[in-house]
Amino acid sequence: MSDKYIMAVDQGTTSTRAIIFDHGGQIVATGQMEHEQIFPRAGWVEHDPMEIWSNVREVVAEAMARADLTPDSIHAVGVTNQRETTVVWDKKTGEPVYNAIVWQDTRTAKIVEDLGGEIGQDRYKERVGLPLATYFSGPKVKWILDNVDGVRQRAEAGDLLMGNIDTWVIWNMTGGPDGGVHVTDVTNASRTMLMDLKSLSWDSEICADMTIPMSMLPQIRSSAEVYGDVRPAGVLPGIPIAGILGDQQAATFGQACFEVGMAKNTYGTGNFMLLNTGSEPVPSKNGLLTTVCYKIGDAAPVYALEGSIAVTGSLVQWLRDNLKIIASAPEIEELAKTVDDNGGAYFVPAFSGLFAPYWKSDARGAIVGLTRYVNRGHIARAVLEATAYQTREVLDAMEADAGVQLTELKVDGGMTANELLLQFQADVLGVDVVRPMVAETTALGAAYAAGIATGYWQGEQDVIDNWAEDKRWQPSMDSEEVERRYRNWKKAVTRTFDWVDEDVIE
Ligand code: ADP
Repeated sequence: MSDKYIMAVDQGTTSTRAIIFDHGGQIVATGQMEHEQIFPRAGWVEHDPMEIWSNVREVVAEAMARADLTPDSIHAVGVTNQRETTVVWDKKTGEPVYNAIVWQDTRTAKIVEDLGGEIGQDRYKERVGLPLATYFSGPKVKWILDNVDGVRQRAEAGDLLMGNIDTWVIWNMTGGPDGGVHVTDVTNASRTMLMDLKSLSWDSEICADMTIPMSMLPQIRSSAEVYGDVRPAGVLPGIPIAGILGDQQAATFGQACFEVGMAKNTYGTGNFMLLNTGSEPVPSKNGLLTTVCYKIGDAAPVYALEGSIAVTGSLVQWLRDNLKIIASAPEIEELAKTVDDNGGAYFVPAFSGLFAPYWKSDARGAIVGLTRYVNRGHIARAVLEATAYQTREVLDAMEADAGVQLTELKVDGGMTANELLLQFQADVLGVDVVRPMVAETTALGAAYAAGIATGYWQGEQDVIDNWAEDKRWQPSMDSEEVERRYRNWKKAVTRTFDWVDEDVIE
């Protein structure tokens, strides 16, 4: 096997990566491209599915060229993806009927409120593990069916398919209109609000409530099995696609969180903490999601509790692109180091409402505690601290729900390059924060799934053996000071509630 490699395609919110891994789980070569973030109105976020598909092909070719490999040296391909982002397309032409509606998009606020009706946000929670919120795919499909001319008719005639990004990419990779397979895995399906968590099948009643024809839905499969081969023409002809995991589940897998009570936190566009809860789904009383963590072939599914935070790294992008206070994301660390603390300012980035643990679609962002004293250094610090405080809120909810006390937190994602953030994170959580050698755990997790499905790796022990610690941060701030600041943070959060009403136009 040593002359063979596994390719992971990681279709993320801001960029698409293709990464080639060797048998030791080390990166051999990478291709990466950003794609356009389309903001047609306040609260709306879209991607062009065709641009994404074209970027997938480019980054795969780029990685292959950089590694100087021929296709026969790739043993299998794993796919991981931004979850919930929804595409509806024509199965005969392969043309999307509308842009992809991205997970951060809040346009379905009215749809989810109406669906809740008298019962409210938790109407489907027992079955799907999720509260009704703009975040999930089902209501996004309903929005497309309701609002794009002629689409409902075409869907009812059986001409249209839907999928999250994994489904869209794999359908295209395996031939598109010419025999493409229409599949998803249990982790991605668990983010639609349409899948029953226990039976791992589509819930026909919820589909009917959301007026979604079931003929549009992909087949639900495990996270590690052969789904099909890459189309014969192109960069990876005939190579099996053998792993699918939603990005956060993939990172949990890549971080080797295989035991009950193990957790990881990924710091990307948003933040996502997942705690392995084993073979039974654990319902949350504290604002977390119950989700499928992974299912390897015929083995029983493993579940997780998840704390999703919509805006963390994207607040750094906002500082760069909208306020232009910094020229690049890493510059925020230097700027934040020019001051000792946040100067009393707290930045609550409720740009897409608040996700875990609040689930308030009508919240919007606020900077509070401003005085003449506050300068750009303090704002930079408040931006980084917002990530750490939101993570603390999720960890508190997790410990309350699962009755476990975390002793350390494994972290990954683009923002973990920021060491000032990770020290502050350890201070605010009061536990060690640990970063692994291979920070690309999302792609790595998808590679492991594909490699395990095809016998390239034997199983989870290989993942555990390949995992190695890079650096550890220990709490060093006085705990009373931490709690004082955290109380201020919680006060700041309450200032964002109930902002969107009939006077706010979005
Ligand atoms: P995704 O997979 O969600 O597309 P990544 O894991 O690639 O995201 O992380 C990218 C995010 O990390 C961006 O939002 C960016 O602003 C942020 N980021 C990257 N480097 C730094 C840094 N040094 N300090 C703070 N944030 C950073």
